[in-house]
Amino acid sequence: MAYVLVLNSGSSSVKFQLVDPAGEATDAPLVSGLVEQVGEPMGAVSVTVGGQEHREELEIPTHSFGLERAFAIMGEHNVGPTDVEVIAVGHRVVHGGKLFSEPQLIVDEIESMIEDLIPLAPLHNPANLDGIRVARAMLPDIPHVAVFDTAFFNHIPPAAALYAINSEVASQYDVRRYGFHGTSHEFVSQQVPKLLDKDPATVNQITLHLGNGASAAAIRHGRPIDTSMGLTPLAGLAMGTRCGDIDPGIIFHLVRQAGMSIDEIDNLLNKQSGVKGIAGVNDFRLLRQRIEEQDQDAWLAYNIYIHQLRRFIGSYMIALGRVDAITFTAGVGENDTEVRQDALYNLDMYGIHFDKEANLVRSKEPRMISTADSPVKVFVVPTNEELAIAQKSAAVAAQARAEGLY
Ligand code: AMP
Repeated sequence: MAYVLVLNSGSSSVKFQLVDPAGEATDAPLVSGLVEQVGEPMGAVSVTVGGQEHREELEIPTHSFGLERAFAIMGEHNVGPTDVEVIAVGHRVVHGGKLFSEPQLIVDEIESMIEDLIPLAPLHNPANLDGIRVARAMLPDIPHVAVFDTAFFNHIPPAAALYAINSEVASQYDVRRYGFHGTSHEFVSQQVPKLLDKDPATVNQITLHLGNGASAAAIRHGRPIDTSMGLTPLAGLAMGTRCGDIDPGIIFHLVRQAGMSIDEIDNLLNKQSGVKGIAGVNDFRLLRQRIEEQDQDAWLAYNIYIHQLRRFIGSYMIALGRVDAITFTAGVGENDTEVRQDALYNLDMYGIHFDKEANLVRSKEPRMISTADSPVKVFVVPTNEELAIAQKSAAVAAQARAEGLY
C-alpha cells in the first residue's frame, strides 16, 4: 500500500501521520506520532503503531533530531519511511497569503515564497518551514507538498475579504481576510452534498469548525463567500484561548492605560483569552464539569462562546440567503452535544428543526441531527485534515511524477 507522510510542524513540536490517501475518513492512520518540547531540557517522541504507543523521553535539540528518532522508532516496528512505500510528504503550512490557492510541489522557489510570507504568520510559517527543510533533507527523493490552511478562502469576494480601513495601508501591508482551517472547511463541506444527495453546485452551507481554535465559513455552491478568521487566526468566534472578534480599540486602551507591550497583548489575546481567559480552562470537558458544579465563570464563558457562535450563524444565513445545511466539526463540534443544541436553540422560525434525540447519538460517522423535513439540515461531520492533506499531496505528487520530475 502507498502512504503519505503528513507533517504538521510547530515551533517546538512536530505532529506526523502515515496516511493511506485512498482510505476512508474513519480509518485510523497506520502510524501517528508527536515530537514534543524541541529545544527544551527534556522532550519526548511518541509513535503510535496499530493503536500501541511507543514513547521515549529525551532531550531533543532540533526538529531533525526528533524526526530522526521518530523514523527510527517507526523502523523498529517495520513501518519506517524505508519499510513502507511513501509516495509523498504533505506539509501543513498555515499561511499561504494571497499567493496560494492550491497545494504546491515544494521546490526551492516555493520554500522562499513561504519564507516571504513570514510577516503574515510570524509564529507559524517559520516552524512550518523548519519542518519542510528538515524533511526534504531527510527524504530528498520523495515529492514534498505544501498544503495551505488559507488556500480554500483565497477567492472569497472582496466585500468579505477586505476590511474597511485605508486601502493604501491595507494594500501596502497585505491587510485582508485570509481565513484559516481551510483544509477542514473544504473537507467537511465536500461531504455535505453527498449527505443531502444534491449536486454540490447547488448547495449553500455553513460549516462550523469548533476545536481549540474555532472558525465558521459560509459556502455558496462549493465556494466560500465568507469566513470568521481574518488576517490572523485570532478573529471571529470566541475560542479555547483566543478572544475572537473584539473592538480593535481595546488594544490602544491596553497600551495606553495598562502600559502593555505589543507582545504582551499578543500573548493575552492569543493564549490567555477566550474560554480560558474567563473560566480558567479551555477544554470543554472541564468547562462542562465546572458548569455542573455551578461555577459562575464557567457559565459566563460558555454563554459568551454560544452568543458569538449564534451571531455568526445568523449573519451567514443572511449572507447566503438560502441555507441547505449547517455542519459541526472538530473536537467540540463533533463531541459536545450541548454546544450544538444551544447554538441552534429555538431557530425553528428560520427553518432549523433540531432533533434533540439524534443530537445525542455518539458516532464517528457523519450524521444528521435535524429532523428529516427540516428545511435547513444540520449535520455532524468528523473532520480529518490529515486525510485531506494526504489526498491533496498524493495528487500533486502523481502530477510531478507524470511530468517526470521524480
Ligand atoms: P481540536 O482542536 O479539534 O483537536 O479540538 C480540541 C478540543 O475539543 C478540546 O480542547 C476540547 O475542548 C474539545 N473536546 C474534545 N473531546 C471532547 C468531548 N468528548 N466533549 C467535549 N469537548 C471535547
